[in-house]
Amino acid sequence: MATHYRDSSSFFGADSPLRAGWPQFAARNEQQALAARVEQALRQRESAALEAPTGTGKTLAYLIPALLHSERVIVSVGNRTLQDHLWWGEYQKLRTLVPGLRRLSVLKGCENYICRWRLEDGLQAGVPWVAQHWQIIAATLQQAGNGEVTSLPLPEDQWPAARQWLTLQVDQCRGQSCSQFESCYFQRARAQAQQADVLLINHTLLLSDQRLFEKGMGALLPLADAVIVDEAHQLPDLLVRLNTETIDGYRLQRWIRQVRSLCGSEVLLFPLLTSGLQQLASAWEQIQRQVQQHERDALLSIQSASLTPLLKLLFLLDNQIRQLPVSQLHLAPVRATLDQWRHMLSHAIADQQVIHADVSGTWLRLVAGRVHSPFATLDQAQATWIFLSATLAVEGSFDYFKRMLDVPTLEAQAFAGHLDYQRQALLWIPEHLPEPAAEDFMPRWVEQVLAVAQRLQGGVLMLFSSFDAVQAAQRFIPADVGRRVLVHLPDSNRQALLEAFRQDANAILLATGSFWEGIDVAGGALRCIAIDKLPFTPPDDVLALAWKHLAAEQGKQVFQDYMVPQAVMRLRQGVGRLLRSADDRGVVLLGDTRVLRKSYGYRFRASLPPMAWASGLADVATFLREQGIGGERLEESDPAQ
Ligand code: SF4
Repeated sequence: MATHYRDSSSFFGADSPLRAGWPQFAARNEQQALAARVEQALRQRESAALEAPTGTGKTLAYLIPALLHSERVIVSVGNRTLQDHLWWGEYQKLRTLVPGLRRLSVLKGCENYICRWRLEDGLQAGVPWVAQHWQIIAATLQQAGNGEVTSLPLPEDQWPAARQWLTLQVDQCRGQSCSQFESCYFQRARAQAQQADVLLINHTLLLSDQRLFEKGMGALLPLADAVIVDEAHQLPDLLVRLNTETIDGYRLQRWIRQVRSLCGSEVLLFPLLTSGLQQLASAWEQIQRQVQQHERDALLSIQSASLTPLLKLLFLLDNQIRQLPVSQLHLAPVRATLDQWRHMLSHAIADQQVIHADVSGTWLRLVAGRVHSPFATLDQAQATWIFLSATLAVEGSFDYFKRMLDVPTLEAQAFAGHLDYQRQALLWIPEHLPEPAAEDFMPRWVEQVLAVAQRLQGGVLMLFSSFDAVQAAQRFIPADVGRRVLVHLPDSNRQALLEAFRQDANAILLATGSFWEGIDVAGGALRCIAIDKLPFTPPDDVLALAWKHLAAEQGKQVFQDYMVPQAVMRLRQGVGRLLRSADDRGVVLLGDTRVLRKSYGYRFRASLPPMAWASGLADVATFLREQGIGGERLEESDPAQ
C-alpha cells in the first residue's frame, strides 16, 4: 500500500499526522526547513553536510523523507543502541500512524549474530559455557530466526557470555573461506540487506563495508542511491581509528608471553617457534633502539620495505603456532592478533607506504594508515551522501569535517535552531581556579560545582574525560551533600544510571565517555552541565598516534589541525546536553581556565552556543533565581572568596 503523501511538508505543518504519536509535537519552522533540505538533496542528488542544533527534531526530519523517497536509501546511526532506539521508537510510531510508508530493514554488526564456526569450535574444545547452554542454542538454531545472539532465550546477564563464546568481531570473520559461509546468519542478513528499500545500519558497518567486500561478502554501499549519516560528527574519529593499524610494544610483549604459555611445559618440543619468538623480541628491540636515537616526541619515518624481514618472521611464527597441539579456539586470539600485524605490514609494503615509529611513552609503536576512505570518491559516486549532526562546525567552519573525510567540495549548511541560548542558558568559567593539571584542581573544582548545586533546583551532570577523573572527583563529594550521587564506572549499566538520574530530578551524576553525547534528559532532571576540562584526547590514545602519522603525511600540525578541532566538537556535544527544548534552562560550568588564557582558547569560545557569561557565583545565583530554578541557600558565601 502506497502512502498518499507526496512530500514531507504535511508531516511538519500545523495539521501534522505526527500529533497522534507525539503529544508534545509542535510545528517548527526549523524542522520543516531541515526536512525540506534533506528531501531536496535526495531528489536532486546533491550531497551535503547539514548541521542542525539540538532540539530541531533531526531524526524525523531525515527519516520521513527517506521513507517517502522512491530510491534505495541507507540510514546510518552511531551505534547498535541508537539503531534499536530508532527502530523501536520513531519508526514503529510512524508505521502505525502512516501505514503506507516504505519498510525499514535493520542490519547489525557481525558481533550481534551467532557465528556457526565459532560455535562449532567451542563445542569441539569443550567450552563449559557452550556445553551448558547447548540445548537452548540448538533449539534456537532449528527455528527460522535471524540468529541474533539476543534472540537466545537466555537471561540478560548471560548475553555477555553468549557474545564471548558465540560471536566474532568483523575483523575475525573468515569470510568466503569459512566452512559455514553458506548457512551463516550474518551473511544471510547482509544478503537480505542488499534487497532492502530503506536500510538502517550503524557507522562501524558503514565504514567496514569495503573491507567486508574484500573478504568476499556482498557490499551494501554500491547498491544504495542515497546514504544518510546521522551523528556524522563521529565520522572523523571513527574513520581514523578504523583506518589506522598499529603494532604496539606492550601488546607485542604480552603476545609473546601468551604464545609461550600455549606451549606450556613442552616449550622445548617447539624449537623453531621458541627461536622465532626470540628473534621477534630482538628485532623489536633493534627498531626501538634505532627510534630512541631519534629526536624525542617526533615520529621516525621508516620505509615499509625495510620491515620485510619482520613480516617474514611473522609468517614463520604463524606457521609454527598452527602446529601447536592446542584447540583452534585457544589459538584464535593469538592468531587474530598476528593476522592484524601481518595485514598491516603486507599492505604497507605492497603500497610502498611510509610507516611511522613512536616512542614518546615507554613502548615503541609502529603505525600505518590505510588509504581507503568511502568518502574520497564522493564526487564521482552515484549515491547522494547526506551528513547530519548538531556539531559539525568548528568556529563556524566545516573545514575540519571536510578535510578529515577528504571531501573538500562538499556543500555544507548550518541551520538555525529554535533554542534561545542567550535567554535559556548561562556560562560560567570560574577564573580563580588553577589549571586542570594542578594538584589542588579537583577538590577546588568539585567545591565550586557543589556551590552552584546548592543554589540550584534540578540535576547536575558532571562530565569528565576519564574514569580516573570521575573517581578522583567522587572522593571530594561529602557524604552529607544532600543529593543522590550517581557515579559512572567502567562496569556501570549506562541505561540504568541514566534512568536513575532522570527519575531523581535532583541528583548529581559523575560520568564520562558516551555520556558526552546522545543522552537526552529534558526538564528539571538536568539544570547544570559541569565540565572539568577541555576534552583533549590523551596522548597515549591510538587516535593521538594516528594524528601524528597523518600530520607527518599531510604536512599538518597535530595540536592545531587535529587535537583542537576534535576537542571543540566534543565540547560542543557536551554543552549540547543542557537544552533539549524551548522550556529547558540551566547553567554550563567550565572548569578549564585555559579557554580564557591560552591562544587556542578563542577557538573554543567562538564555537560555543551564544550564551550569556557569568562573572561570578552571584551572577549564577541571580540567573537561577530569575529563571525560577534557584535553590534555597542563595545567601551562602562563594568558596572562591
Ligand atoms: S562467515 Fe564469519 S560470521 Fe559467518 S560463520 Fe563464518 S566466521 Fe562466523
